[in-house]
Amino acid sequence: AKDAGRNCFSFFTPALQVAAVARMRLTNDLRGALANEELRLYFQPVVDLASGRIHKAEALLRWEHPTRGMVGPAEFIPLAEASGLIHDIGEWVFQQAAQWVKRWRQELDPYFQVAVNQSPVEFQRQGRRSAQWLAHLKTLGLSGGALVVEITEGLLLDASPGVTEQLLEFRDAGVEVALDDFGTGYSSLSYIQKFDIDYLKIDQSFVRNLKPGARDVALCKAIIVMAHELGIKVIAEGVETEAQRDLLAAAGCDYGQGYLFAKPLAAEAFDALLVRQRDD
Ligand code: C2E
Ligand code: CA
Ligand code: CA
Ligand code: CA
Repeated sequence: AKDAGRNCFSFFTPALQVAAVARMRLTNDLRGALANEELRLYFQPVVDLASGRIHKAEALLRWEHPTRGMVGPAEFIPLAEASGLIHDIGEWVFQQAAQWVKRWRQELDPYFQVAVNQSPVEFQRQGRRSAQWLAHLKTLGLSGGALVVEITEGLLLDASPGVTEQLLEFRDAGVEVALDDFGTGYSSLSYIQKFDIDYLKIDQSFVRNLKPGARDVALCKAIIVMAHELGIKVIAEGVETEAQRDLLAAAGCDYGQGYLFAKPLAAEAFDALLVRQRDD
């Protein structure tokens, strides 16, 4: 048995072993991250391209690791999903987002919205979190419209009855739904129709190549026209230059998000940005 074990191990190259051990370590650290208050919720403005004003933000998770510094979600969300920690983390994200949007609605802008990312794994949980969330919003005195849920095309593609039910429950409560990373997956008009999506987020891979005359200009225009025909608003992701913003605005795009306007900001810094906007 000992020999068999050793043989098994020899299938792994040293590099793979190192990566696997690093993942295990990080997953272990992540287990303590919530209790040790190492998670931070950042906010990135979503700018109304016609007015230049901010009435929405996307909540983006960060992990302030005690020794490794800031760890981005691309690195730890997959670990959270694989380990099941994503459910507790998602709950924390929701609580934080709800608290901040409550402040911003009360103090600054009664229609302010915060968008929260939901990975497909989060929807698979038993016990309909949508109902719990809606109850929590109610106790905070918030309407469903304070929240936007960002989902990806993959979720709609193999939507189980449970997923469909939660999406409908959100919708009935006025929570809006945004389809994230649009254009990178199996985009299908029938899904968009069936699930009554409120926003399409054009993936940053299309926005990156926007210059006058580029093929992606035609692509973005087509997405925007199609979305508007269906009563869906469009948010462009990854807007980094004024030229991109101008092309998008000329194409009728409703909102832009990206480093041109602001990077994701710590909640207090985002709060200060909104206060400055009010006083402008
Ligand atoms: P996403 O939802 O597509 O988020 C957009 C990503 O683009 C963010 O990366 C954001 O920081 C980045 N970004 C924004 N503006 C620009 C720009 O102008 N240029 C470039 N190059 N990038 C820009 P981030 O924060 O690292 O998040 C990565 C992904 O992690 C997100 O992609 C989302 O899928 C996931 N994620 C983040 N927070 C959460 C969360 O609370 N829950 C779940 N389930 N997933 C999350
Ligand atoms: Ca997103
Ligand atoms: Ca995205
Ligand atoms: Ca709708």
